[in-house]
Amino acid sequence: MGKVVNQGALVAIVGRPNVGKSTLVNRFVGERIAIVDDQPGVTRDRLYLNCEWGNREFVVIDTGGLIFEDEDDILTAVQQQAWLAIDEADVIVFLVDGQAGLNPVDYTVAAELRQRKKDVILAVNKVDDVYNEDIVTAEFYELGMGTPRPLSAIHRHHTGDLLDDIVSRLDSSVVIDKEETLRIAVVGKPNVGKSSIVNTLLGESRMTVSDISGTTRDAVDSVCKHNGNSYTLVDTAGIRKKSKVRYGIERFSVVRAIKSIQRADVVVLVIDATEPISEQDQRIAGMAQDMGKASLIVVNKWDLIEDKSSGSMNDFSDDIRDKLYFMSYAPILFTSTVTKKRLHSIFELSQAATEENQRRITTGLFNEVLNEIVAMNPPPARKNRRPKITYGTQVSVSPPTFVVFSTYPSLIEDPYLRHIERKVRENFGFTGTPLRFLRREDDKRKKRGESRRAGQYGSKKSEDITVEEARADA
Ligand code: GDP
Ligand code: GDP
Repeated sequence: MGKVVNQGALVAIVGRPNVGKSTLVNRFVGERIAIVDDQPGVTRDRLYLNCEWGNREFVVIDTGGLIFEDEDDILTAVQQQAWLAIDEADVIVFLVDGQAGLNPVDYTVAAELRQRKKDVILAVNKVDDVYNEDIVTAEFYELGMGTPRPLSAIHRHHTGDLLDDIVSRLDSSVVIDKEETLRIAVVGKPNVGKSSIVNTLLGESRMTVSDISGTTRDAVDSVCKHNGNSYTLVDTAGIRKKSKVRYGIERFSVVRAIKSIQRADVVVLVIDATEPISEQDQRIAGMAQDMGKASLIVVNKWDLIEDKSSGSMNDFSDDIRDKLYFMSYAPILFTSTVTKKRLHSIFELSQAATEENQRRITTGLFNEVLNEIVAMNPPPARKNRRPKITYGTQVSVSPPTFVVFSTYPSLIEDPYLRHIERKVRENFGFTGTPLRFLRREDDKRKKRGESRRAGQYGSKKSEDITVEEARADA
């Protein structure tokens, strides 16, 4: 027995500007069944996407344009982020432009990639004419990156093949955690106190460091015990290793956080009590939400706040609820690694949040609540049609996902689903976990020939709903 560990995997799309990187990434969205949709107001780079293909989950990162023309510009923030993504990636798709032909910059990128000894798929985009694939790709052998793979992102030629190739290169070995520990990712901006927290949590309990290398490069997880339960702090190497020299302050940002979050059961988002909540905090919180993970928010360095009254805590909480409004379900904890106050509550709260993340409620109970919601406040009519909600059911966990069946599901709008979510939380709690609500046409009605449309709210997984359906609904 044991628990299968999500190993996490990162795929980076690299290439000079205008070769079609973002078009390709958008095609991936169209190909796969899992979708991350935009939530208005949440700050996003839009540079990463959760993907699922052939039963393998991975995150795709669009590195943006790598520009080499001006040597002085090489160390700009964008460049750093791009190379960081490349260093962390398991597979790289090096995209070139088949219509523009070989470009000197392509050679530079190829040389850099070769130096980094990464697994690279060379893909020639804009090969719109399938009959000329061989002719168009021939010159790209010059790059010495193996057989160039033709594709047309716009026409979706070979994009599925490319995904097959990507997945075939990802480590498919399954890692089993024999102890079935709870996996905690401590994430946050640089300097908020992540390593201090991890060291405190590890220092005071019996600790072994398990290096499951070969799964995720240089990810070191630390196992510790608290009150008889076993916990794994994910990627403590990434947190503790302070190689700020090479990448500057960004070393610990987005890419590393994505990988840690992928591999965790619960995300501990650390925020600095002495600083305003920033875009980066929002971004990291957004990732945890996207990936459907249980989460808690830790406001660290509370010792530095002079007014430690509950009023001050409330003010701070209000600010968090305002800026991280999409994460209203996450408990907030005020900690200090100096006084060590409340630090160990991280274990209990993580446990509780994970249980909620894996919780199922019966169809009977869910429908009792759903019926009440609908009776009190039915979905409003749109376009002279009133959708009628017939029933609902929970279809999965991690995160708990509910399907709401109705007529005209496309007319049920997000605010109404948020209303259902609020009521479900009032009745069932689900503290610490995101929830997903999917709309679906009631089958019996469908047979009578009404338009078949379905959609989702709450981002990420949509079970067997296709993206086209979700889009049609939008
Ligand atoms: P990025 O800068 O690498 O992200 O490139 P974009 O995705 O923004 O694409 C640059 C341009 O190339 C856009 O005008 C796209 O419409 C076009 N493009 C992308 N893929 C293809 C393709 O497969 N065929 C053709 N003909 N044009 C494409
Ligand atoms: P990380 O970059 O998020 O891992 O942050 P560190 O753990 O390296 O902490 C950054 C700085 O904040 C260090 O100088 C720590 O000593 C300090 N620090 C961490 N936690 C606390 C805390 O709770 N209170 C105070 N006053 N300082 C802290």
